[in-house]
Amino acid sequence: MDLILYNTLAREKQRFEPIDETNVRLYVCGPTVYDFAHIGNARPVVVFDVLFRLLRDLYGDDAVTYVRNITDVDDKINARAAESGETIREITERTAAAFHEDMDALGALRPTIEPRATEHIAQMIAMIEKLIARGHAYEAEGHVLFSVGSDPNYGTLSGRSMDEMIAGARVEVAPYKKDAADFVLWKPSTPDLPGWESPWGRGRPGWHIECSAMGAAHLGEVFDIHGGGIDLIFPHHENEIAQSACAHSGQPHANYWMHNGFLMVEGEKMSKSLGNFFTVRDLLADWPGEVLRYTMLASHYRQPLDWTKVGMQQARESLDRLYRTLKAFEDIDTVEADVPDSVLAPLLEDLNTPLALAALHELATKANKAKNDPTRGKYKALLLAGGKFLGLFGSEPDDWLKRRTGQETGPSEGEIEQLIADRIAARQNKDFAEADRIRGTLADQGIILEDGPQGTTWRRG
Ligand code: AMP
Ligand code: ZN
Repeated sequence: MDLILYNTLAREKQRFEPIDETNVRLYVCGPTVYDFAHIGNARPVVVFDVLFRLLRDLYGDDAVTYVRNITDVDDKINARAAESGETIREITERTAAAFHEDMDALGALRPTIEPRATEHIAQMIAMIEKLIARGHAYEAEGHVLFSVGSDPNYGTLSGRSMDEMIAGARVEVAPYKKDAADFVLWKPSTPDLPGWESPWGRGRPGWHIECSAMGAAHLGEVFDIHGGGIDLIFPHHENEIAQSACAHSGQPHANYWMHNGFLMVEGEKMSKSLGNFFTVRDLLADWPGEVLRYTMLASHYRQPLDWTKVGMQQARESLDRLYRTLKAFEDIDTVEADVPDSVLAPLLEDLNTPLALAALHELATKANKAKNDPTRGKYKALLLAGGKFLGLFGSEPDDWLKRRTGQETGPSEGEIEQLIADRIAARQNKDFAEADRIRGTLADQGIILEDGPQGTTWRRG
Protein backbone atom coordinates (compact mmCIF):
# COMPACT_ATOMS: atom_id res chain seq x y z
CA MET A 1 0.00 0.00 0.00
CA ASP A 2 1.29 3.46 -0.88
CA LEU A 3 1.70 6.26 1.60
CA ILE A 4 0.26 9.52 0.33
CA LEU A 5 1.32 12.78 1.98
CA TYR A 6 0.49 16.41 1.33
CA ASN A 7 3.75 18.15 0.48
CA THR A 8 3.66 21.89 1.21
CA LEU A 9 6.60 22.36 -1.15
CA ALA A 10 4.73 20.80 -4.09
CA ARG A 11 1.33 22.12 -2.96
CA GLU A 12 -0.24 18.72 -3.60
CA LYS A 13 -0.58 15.22 -2.25
CA GLN A 14 2.23 12.95 -3.42
CA ARG A 15 3.19 9.32 -3.12
CA PHE A 16 5.94 9.08 -0.52
CA GLU A 17 9.18 7.64 -1.85
CA PRO A 18 12.04 7.56 0.65
CA ILE A 19 15.61 8.18 -0.44
CA ASP A 20 16.68 5.00 1.36
CA GLU A 21 14.06 2.45 2.47
CA THR A 22 16.42 1.11 5.10
CA ASN A 23 16.78 4.54 6.74
CA VAL A 24 13.75 6.76 6.37
CA ARG A 25 14.57 10.18 7.81
CA LEU A 26 12.20 12.61 9.50
CA TYR A 27 12.98 15.97 11.15
CA VAL A 28 10.46 17.95 13.19
CA CYS A 29 11.12 21.34 14.78
CA GLY A 30 11.04 20.88 18.52
CA PRO A 31 10.38 23.14 21.48
CA THR A 32 12.21 26.23 22.63
CA VAL A 33 12.62 25.29 26.27
CA TYR A 34 11.76 28.27 28.45
CA ASP A 35 8.27 27.37 29.70
CA PHE A 36 5.73 24.53 29.85
CA ALA A 37 4.43 23.36 26.47
CA HIS A 38 0.97 24.68 25.64
CA ILE A 39 -1.66 22.52 24.01
CA GLY A 40 -0.85 24.07 20.59
CA ASN A 41 2.77 22.93 20.94
CA ALA A 42 1.47 19.42 21.55
CA ARG A 43 -0.25 19.29 18.18
CA PRO A 44 2.86 18.75 16.01
CA VAL A 45 4.16 16.28 18.60
CA VAL A 46 1.04 14.09 18.34
CA VAL A 47 0.65 14.51 14.56
CA PHE A 48 4.23 13.55 13.78
CA ASP A 49 4.10 10.76 16.35
CA VAL A 50 1.35 9.20 14.22
CA LEU A 51 3.56 9.61 11.15
CA PHE A 52 6.54 8.08 12.99
CA ARG A 53 4.44 5.07 14.03
CA LEU A 54 3.15 4.67 10.48
CA LEU A 55 6.63 4.85 8.94
CA ARG A 56 7.87 2.27 11.45
CA ASP A 57 5.03 -0.01 10.49
CA LEU A 58 5.77 0.39 6.78
CA TYR A 59 9.58 0.26 6.81
CA GLY A 60 10.44 -1.45 10.10
CA ASP A 61 11.12 -0.15 13.60
CA ASP A 62 14.86 0.17 12.98
CA ALA A 63 14.51 1.73 9.54
CA VAL A 64 13.19 5.12 10.63
CA THR A 65 15.23 7.93 12.18
CA TYR A 66 13.13 10.64 13.79
CA VAL A 67 14.99 13.77 14.88
CA ARG A 68 13.28 16.43 16.97
CA ASN A 69 15.55 19.18 18.25
CA ILE A 70 15.56 21.05 21.52
CA THR A 71 16.21 24.76 21.10
CA ASP A 72 18.14 25.62 24.24
CA VAL A 73 19.69 28.90 23.10
CA ASP A 74 17.20 31.64 22.33
CA ASP A 75 16.43 35.21 23.38
CA LYS A 76 13.20 34.08 25.11
CA ILE A 77 15.26 31.79 27.34
CA ASN A 78 17.70 34.60 28.11
CA ALA A 79 14.83 36.92 29.01
CA ARG A 80 13.29 34.31 31.30
CA ALA A 81 16.62 33.81 33.10
CA ALA A 82 17.01 37.56 33.61
CA GLU A 83 13.47 37.74 35.07
CA SER A 84 13.62 34.73 37.36
CA GLY A 85 17.24 34.74 38.47
CA GLU A 86 17.60 31.07 37.53
CA THR A 87 20.52 30.08 35.33
CA ILE A 88 19.86 29.37 31.67
CA ARG A 89 20.89 25.77 32.16
CA GLU A 90 18.46 25.33 35.07
CA ILE A 91 15.62 26.68 32.96
CA THR A 92 16.40 24.61 29.87
CA GLU A 93 16.99 21.36 31.78
CA ARG A 94 13.85 21.70 33.88
CA THR A 95 11.71 22.68 30.89
CA ALA A 96 13.05 19.91 28.66
CA ALA A 97 12.31 17.34 31.42
CA ALA A 98 8.76 18.71 31.82
CA PHE A 99 8.28 18.57 28.06
CA HIS A 100 9.24 14.89 28.07
CA GLU A 101 6.84 14.10 30.91
CA ASP A 102 3.97 15.91 29.22
CA MET A 103 4.51 14.37 25.80
CA ASP A 104 4.91 10.90 27.35
CA ALA A 105 1.52 11.45 28.99
CA LEU A 106 0.07 12.14 25.54
CA GLY A 107 1.32 8.74 24.39
CA ALA A 108 3.95 10.17 22.03
CA LEU A 109 6.96 7.96 21.40
CA ARG A 110 10.31 9.61 22.05
CA PRO A 111 12.14 10.56 18.83
CA THR A 112 15.21 8.57 17.87
CA ILE A 113 17.50 11.56 18.43
CA GLU A 114 16.86 14.83 20.28
CA PRO A 115 19.77 17.10 19.45
CA ARG A 116 20.33 20.24 21.49
CA ALA A 117 21.27 23.44 19.71
CA THR A 118 24.04 24.24 22.23
CA GLU A 119 25.74 20.96 21.34
CA HIS A 120 25.90 21.82 17.61
CA ILE A 121 27.48 25.26 17.60
CA ALA A 122 30.58 24.03 15.72
CA GLN A 123 28.38 22.68 12.89
CA MET A 124 26.48 25.97 12.74
CA ILE A 125 29.69 27.97 12.50
CA ALA A 126 31.01 25.65 9.76
CA MET A 127 27.79 26.08 7.79
CA ILE A 128 27.87 29.86 8.12
CA GLU A 129 31.49 29.89 6.92
CA LYS A 130 30.45 27.91 3.85
CA LEU A 131 27.61 30.35 3.13
CA ILE A 132 30.02 33.30 3.36
CA ALA A 133 32.55 31.55 1.08
CA ARG A 134 29.85 30.91 -1.51
CA GLY A 135 28.63 34.51 -1.51
CA HIS A 136 25.31 33.80 0.26
CA ALA A 137 26.11 35.54 3.54
CA TYR A 138 28.03 38.54 4.75
CA GLU A 139 29.43 39.89 7.99
CA ALA A 140 28.35 43.29 9.31
CA GLU A 141 29.02 44.75 12.74
CA GLY A 142 29.60 41.39 14.44
CA HIS A 143 26.50 39.90 12.80
CA VAL A 144 26.42 37.47 9.92
CA LEU A 145 23.41 37.81 7.64
CA PHE A 146 22.02 35.57 4.95
CA SER A 147 21.69 37.48 1.70
CA VAL A 148 18.22 36.69 0.49
CA GLY A 149 18.93 38.29 -2.90
CA SER A 150 21.71 35.75 -3.51
CA ASP A 151 19.23 32.87 -3.64
CA PRO A 152 16.98 32.88 -6.73
CA ASN A 153 14.83 30.14 -5.16
CA TYR A 154 14.05 32.09 -1.99
CA GLY A 155 10.28 32.08 -1.41
CA THR A 156 9.59 28.72 -3.11
CA LEU A 157 8.11 27.04 -0.02
CA SER A 158 5.80 29.82 1.10
CA GLY A 159 5.07 31.03 -2.43
CA ARG A 160 5.17 34.64 -1.32
CA SER A 161 6.50 37.67 -3.09
CA MET A 162 9.38 39.49 -1.48
CA ASP A 163 7.09 42.35 -0.34
CA GLU A 164 4.69 39.94 1.33
CA MET A 165 7.57 38.17 2.99
CA ILE A 166 8.99 41.34 4.43
CA ALA A 167 5.57 42.39 5.74
CA GLY A 168 4.73 38.89 7.05
CA ALA A 169 7.96 38.44 8.93
CA ARG A 170 7.88 41.88 10.51
CA VAL A 171 11.50 41.88 9.44
CA GLU A 172 13.70 43.87 11.71
CA VAL A 173 15.14 46.83 9.87
CA ALA A 174 18.72 47.27 10.96
CA PRO A 175 21.37 49.61 9.57
CA TYR A 176 23.84 46.79 9.01
CA LYS A 177 21.47 44.86 6.70
CA LYS A 178 22.03 45.21 2.95
CA ASP A 179 18.41 44.22 2.34
CA ALA A 180 15.57 44.40 4.87
CA ALA A 181 14.69 40.74 4.17
CA ASP A 182 18.18 39.45 5.04
CA PHE A 183 18.09 37.37 8.19
CA VAL A 184 20.51 36.70 11.01
CA LEU A 185 22.75 33.63 11.03
CA TRP A 186 24.97 34.82 13.86
CA LYS A 187 24.78 37.73 16.28
CA PRO A 188 27.11 39.17 18.89
CA SER A 189 26.64 38.37 22.58
CA THR A 190 27.33 40.66 25.50
CA PRO A 191 29.31 39.10 28.40
CA ASP A 192 26.11 38.43 30.39
CA LEU A 193 24.57 36.41 27.56
CA PRO A 194 25.45 32.91 26.30
CA GLY A 195 28.09 33.09 23.61
CA TRP A 196 30.67 31.07 21.72
CA GLU A 197 33.91 32.12 20.09
CA SER A 198 33.60 32.38 16.32
CA PRO A 199 35.44 33.94 13.37
CA TRP A 200 33.07 36.92 13.88
CA GLY A 201 33.75 37.35 17.59
CA ARG A 202 31.91 35.97 20.58
CA GLY A 203 28.29 35.42 19.67
CA ARG A 204 25.34 33.09 19.34
CA PRO A 205 23.41 31.59 16.44
CA GLY A 206 20.12 32.71 14.91
CA TRP A 207 17.21 30.29 15.28
CA HIS A 208 16.95 29.15 11.65
CA ILE A 209 20.56 28.01 11.30
CA GLU A 210 20.11 25.76 14.34
CA CYS A 211 17.66 23.47 12.54
CA SER A 212 19.62 23.47 9.27
CA ALA A 213 22.79 22.41 11.08
CA MET A 214 21.13 19.81 13.33
CA GLY A 215 19.16 18.33 10.43
CA ALA A 216 22.31 17.93 8.33
CA ALA A 217 24.33 16.59 11.29
CA HIS A 218 21.90 13.77 12.04
CA LEU A 219 20.07 13.09 8.79
CA GLY A 220 22.44 14.20 6.02
CA GLU A 221 22.33 17.15 3.63
CA VAL A 222 19.07 16.00 2.03
CA PHE A 223 16.58 13.84 3.88
CA ASP A 224 12.98 12.70 3.46
CA ILE A 225 10.46 14.61 5.56
CA HIS A 226 10.59 17.89 7.46
CA GLY A 227 7.66 18.83 9.67
CA GLY A 228 6.33 21.50 11.99
CA GLY A 229 3.37 23.78 12.59
CA ILE A 230 1.94 25.86 9.75
CA ASP A 231 3.27 29.04 11.38
CA LEU A 232 6.78 27.79 10.69
CA ILE A 233 6.44 27.79 6.87
CA PHE A 234 7.52 31.40 6.86
CA PRO A 235 10.04 32.54 7.79
CA HIS A 236 11.55 29.56 9.67
CA HIS A 237 11.30 26.82 7.06
CA GLU A 238 11.79 29.17 4.11
CA ASN A 239 15.05 30.26 5.73
CA GLU A 240 16.09 26.72 6.60
CA ILE A 241 15.69 25.74 2.96
CA ALA A 242 17.65 28.77 1.75
CA GLN A 243 20.55 28.12 4.14
CA SER A 244 20.71 24.39 3.51
CA ALA A 245 20.29 24.51 -0.24
CA CYS A 246 22.91 27.26 -0.60
CA ALA A 247 25.39 25.57 1.75
CA HIS A 248 24.90 22.09 0.31
CA SER A 249 23.89 20.64 -3.01
CA GLY A 250 21.27 23.18 -4.05
CA GLN A 251 18.53 20.71 -3.19
CA PRO A 252 15.80 21.80 -0.76
CA HIS A 253 17.06 20.13 2.44
CA ALA A 254 14.06 17.75 2.63
CA ASN A 255 11.93 16.27 -0.13
CA TYR A 256 8.58 16.46 1.68
CA TRP A 257 7.53 19.38 3.88
CA MET A 258 4.56 18.76 6.17
CA HIS A 259 2.70 21.26 8.33
CA ASN A 260 -0.01 20.83 10.92
CA GLY A 261 -2.82 23.38 11.12
CA PHE A 262 -3.16 25.79 14.00
CA LEU A 263 -4.92 25.03 17.26
CA MET A 264 -7.44 27.57 18.57
CA VAL A 265 -9.26 27.46 21.92
CA GLU A 266 -13.05 27.82 22.01
CA GLY A 267 -12.89 29.56 18.62
CA GLU A 268 -10.24 32.12 19.54
CA LYS A 269 -6.51 32.40 19.19
CA MET A 270 -4.99 31.10 22.39
CA SER A 271 -3.44 33.89 24.38
CA LYS A 272 -2.60 34.64 27.98
CA SER A 273 -4.45 37.95 27.86
CA LEU A 274 -7.69 36.28 26.72
CA GLY A 275 -7.45 33.79 29.58
CA ASN A 276 -7.79 30.83 27.21
CA PHE A 277 -4.19 29.73 27.36
CA PHE A 278 -3.72 26.12 28.45
CA THR A 279 -0.52 24.29 29.10
CA VAL A 280 -0.55 20.53 28.61
CA ARG A 281 0.17 20.32 32.33
CA ASP A 282 -2.98 22.32 33.24
CA LEU A 283 -5.10 19.99 31.13
CA LEU A 284 -3.44 16.84 32.45
CA ALA A 285 -4.53 17.84 35.95
CA ASP A 286 -8.13 17.38 34.84
CA TRP A 287 -8.06 14.91 31.97
CA PRO A 288 -6.23 11.68 31.20
CA GLY A 289 -3.51 12.17 28.57
CA GLU A 290 -5.34 9.74 26.33
CA VAL A 291 -8.37 12.05 26.21
CA LEU A 292 -6.10 14.89 25.05
CA ARG A 293 -4.53 12.62 22.44
CA TYR A 294 -7.93 11.42 21.20
CA THR A 295 -9.16 15.02 20.97
CA MET A 296 -6.13 15.85 18.79
CA LEU A 297 -6.62 12.82 16.55
CA ALA A 298 -10.30 13.55 16.05
CA SER A 299 -9.35 16.40 13.65
CA HIS A 300 -7.39 16.04 10.44
CA TYR A 301 -3.90 17.42 10.99
CA ARG A 302 -4.05 19.98 8.19
CA GLN A 303 -7.32 21.50 9.39
CA PRO A 304 -7.45 24.14 12.07
CA LEU A 305 -8.37 22.51 15.37
CA ASP A 306 -10.80 24.21 17.72
CA TRP A 307 -9.91 22.93 21.19
CA THR A 308 -13.01 22.93 23.41
CA LYS A 309 -14.20 21.46 26.66
CA VAL A 310 -17.04 19.80 24.76
CA GLY A 311 -14.47 18.25 22.43
CA MET A 312 -12.60 16.75 25.37
CA GLN A 313 -15.84 15.44 26.90
CA GLN A 314 -16.77 13.81 23.60
CA ALA A 315 -13.30 12.26 23.37
CA ARG A 316 -13.71 10.92 26.88
CA GLU A 317 -17.09 9.39 26.00
CA SER A 318 -15.71 7.85 22.82
CA LEU A 319 -12.83 6.30 24.73
CA ASP A 320 -15.23 5.07 27.44
CA ARG A 321 -17.21 3.25 24.78
CA LEU A 322 -14.12 1.59 23.35
CA TYR A 323 -12.88 0.61 26.81
CA ARG A 324 -16.34 -0.79 27.71
CA THR A 325 -16.10 -2.99 24.64
CA LEU A 326 -12.67 -4.21 25.69
CA LYS A 327 -13.99 -4.88 29.17
CA ALA A 328 -16.85 -6.94 27.83
CA PHE A 329 -14.21 -9.15 26.23
CA GLU A 330 -12.11 -9.46 29.33
CA ASP A 331 -12.66 -13.19 29.63
CA ILE A 332 -11.17 -13.81 26.19
CA ASP A 333 -7.43 -14.30 25.88
CA THR A 334 -5.76 -11.62 23.81
CA VAL A 335 -4.23 -12.88 20.60
CA GLU A 336 -1.73 -10.94 18.53
CA ALA A 337 -3.13 -9.21 15.46
CA ASP A 338 -1.73 -6.90 12.81
CA VAL A 339 -3.05 -3.36 12.61
CA PRO A 340 -6.39 -3.74 10.82
CA ASP A 341 -6.53 -2.46 7.25
CA SER A 342 -9.55 -0.33 8.10
CA VAL A 343 -7.36 1.67 10.51
CA LEU A 344 -4.23 1.66 8.35
CA ALA A 345 -5.81 2.66 5.03
CA PRO A 346 -7.04 6.13 6.12
CA LEU A 347 -3.68 6.85 7.75
CA LEU A 348 -1.92 6.04 4.50
CA GLU A 349 -4.09 8.68 2.85
CA ASP A 350 -2.37 11.75 4.33
CA LEU A 351 -2.80 10.73 7.98
CA ASN A 352 -6.59 10.74 8.13
CA THR A 353 -6.83 10.11 11.86
CA PRO A 354 -10.57 10.95 12.19
CA LEU A 355 -11.36 8.10 9.78
CA ALA A 356 -8.98 5.78 11.60
CA LEU A 357 -10.82 6.52 14.87
CA ALA A 358 -14.14 5.88 13.13
CA ALA A 359 -12.75 2.49 12.07
CA LEU A 360 -12.04 1.67 15.73
CA HIS A 361 -15.67 2.39 16.55
CA GLU A 362 -16.84 0.16 13.70
CA LEU A 363 -14.68 -2.63 15.08
CA ALA A 364 -16.21 -2.05 18.52
CA THR A 365 -19.71 -2.26 17.03
CA LYS A 366 -18.83 -5.52 15.29
CA ALA A 367 -17.29 -6.86 18.46
CA ASN A 368 -20.36 -6.00 20.52
CA LYS A 369 -22.65 -7.65 17.97
CA ALA A 370 -20.53 -10.79 17.91
CA LYS A 371 -20.93 -11.37 21.63
CA ASN A 372 -21.89 -15.01 21.36
CA ASP A 373 -19.92 -15.75 18.23
CA PRO A 374 -17.07 -18.22 18.83
CA THR A 375 -14.71 -16.14 16.64
CA ARG A 376 -15.39 -12.96 18.56
CA GLY A 377 -11.87 -12.91 19.98
CA LYS A 378 -10.57 -11.71 16.66
CA TYR A 379 -12.53 -8.46 16.98
CA LYS A 380 -11.04 -7.79 20.36
CA ALA A 381 -7.58 -8.44 18.92
CA LEU A 382 -8.18 -6.11 15.96
CA LEU A 383 -9.61 -3.37 18.15
CA LEU A 384 -6.67 -3.60 20.52
CA ALA A 385 -4.10 -3.63 17.70
CA GLY A 386 -5.72 -0.65 15.95
CA GLY A 387 -6.06 1.38 19.15
CA LYS A 388 -2.55 0.68 20.37
CA PHE A 389 -1.19 1.61 16.96
CA LEU A 390 -2.80 5.02 17.36
CA GLY A 391 -1.22 5.32 20.81
CA LEU A 392 -4.45 4.57 22.72
CA PHE A 393 -5.47 1.84 25.21
CA GLY A 394 -2.60 2.54 27.59
CA SER A 395 -4.84 1.58 30.55
CA GLU A 396 -6.46 -1.65 31.60
CA PRO A 397 -10.21 -1.33 30.83
CA ASP A 398 -11.18 -1.67 34.48
CA ASP A 399 -8.74 1.02 35.59
CA TRP A 400 -9.92 3.35 32.84
CA LEU A 401 -13.60 2.93 33.60
CA LYS A 402 -13.14 3.43 37.33
CA ARG A 403 -10.73 6.33 37.15
CA ARG A 404 -11.84 9.60 38.66
CA THR A 405 -10.30 12.59 36.91
CA GLY A 406 -9.91 15.99 38.55
CA GLN A 407 -13.02 17.10 36.62
CA GLU A 408 -15.33 14.72 38.45
CA THR A 409 -16.36 15.07 42.04
CA GLY A 410 -18.06 11.72 42.62
CA PRO A 411 -17.31 9.26 45.43
CA SER A 412 -13.91 7.60 45.71
CA GLU A 413 -13.29 4.00 44.77
CA GLY A 414 -13.30 2.98 48.46
CA GLU A 415 -16.64 4.70 49.09
CA ILE A 416 -18.18 3.00 46.09
CA GLU A 417 -16.93 -0.44 47.14
CA GLN A 418 -18.39 0.18 50.62
CA LEU A 419 -21.80 1.16 49.23
CA ILE A 420 -21.82 -1.92 47.00
CA ALA A 421 -21.06 -4.09 50.05
CA ASP A 422 -23.89 -2.34 51.96
CA ARG A 423 -26.25 -3.01 49.05
CA ILE A 424 -25.34 -6.71 48.98
CA ALA A 425 -25.94 -6.90 52.72
CA ALA A 426 -29.32 -5.15 52.35
CA ARG A 427 -30.37 -7.62 49.68
CA GLN A 428 -29.31 -10.56 51.82
CA ASN A 429 -31.57 -9.11 54.55
CA LYS A 430 -34.33 -8.80 51.93
CA ASP A 431 -34.32 -5.03 52.44
CA PHE A 432 -34.82 -4.35 48.72
CA ALA A 433 -35.92 -0.76 49.31
CA GLU A 434 -32.53 -0.01 50.90
CA ALA A 435 -30.69 -1.85 48.10
CA ASP A 436 -32.52 0.23 45.51
CA ARG A 437 -31.85 3.41 47.42
CA ILE A 438 -28.11 2.69 47.38
CA ARG A 439 -28.19 1.95 43.67
CA GLY A 440 -30.08 5.23 43.12
CA THR A 441 -27.62 7.24 45.21
CA LEU A 442 -24.72 5.89 43.18
CA ALA A 443 -26.55 6.46 39.88
CA ASP A 444 -27.14 10.09 40.85
CA GLN A 445 -23.37 10.44 41.15
CA GLY A 446 -22.75 8.85 37.77
CA ILE A 447 -21.81 5.41 39.07
CA ILE A 448 -23.41 2.57 37.18
CA LEU A 449 -23.77 -0.87 38.78
CA GLU A 450 -23.97 -4.03 36.74
CA ASP A 451 -25.09 -7.24 38.42
CA GLY A 452 -23.64 -10.30 36.71
CA PRO A 453 -22.94 -13.95 37.47
CA GLN A 454 -19.61 -13.00 39.06
CA GLY A 455 -21.18 -10.40 41.32
CA THR A 456 -21.60 -6.66 41.01
CA THR A 457 -19.23 -4.53 38.94
CA TRP A 458 -19.28 -0.77 38.52
CA ARG A 459 -18.09 1.96 36.24
CA ARG A 460 -18.32 5.70 35.97
CA GLY A 461 -20.96 6.55 33.38
P1 AMP B 1 7.51 27.07 19.33
O1 AMP B 1 8.03 26.57 20.64
O2 AMP B 1 6.66 28.29 19.41
O3 AMP B 1 8.63 27.19 18.30
O4 AMP B 1 6.53 25.96 18.76
C1 AMP B 1 6.87 24.58 18.72
C2 AMP B 1 5.95 23.90 17.73
O5 AMP B 1 4.57 24.10 18.09
C3 AMP B 1 6.07 24.43 16.31
O6 AMP B 1 6.00 23.33 15.41
C4 AMP B 1 4.86 25.32 16.16
O7 AMP B 1 4.44 25.42 14.82
C5 AMP B 1 3.83 24.58 16.97
N1 AMP B 1 2.73 25.43 17.44
C6 AMP B 1 2.83 26.53 18.24
N2 AMP B 1 1.61 27.04 18.49
C7 AMP B 1 0.71 26.26 17.85
C8 AMP B 1 -0.73 26.26 17.76
N3 AMP B 1 -1.50 27.16 18.38
N4 AMP B 1 -1.31 25.31 16.99
C9 AMP B 1 -0.57 24.36 16.38
N5 AMP B 1 0.77 24.29 16.44
C10 AMP B 1 1.42 25.23 17.17
ZN1 ZN C 1 13.21 24.31 12.97
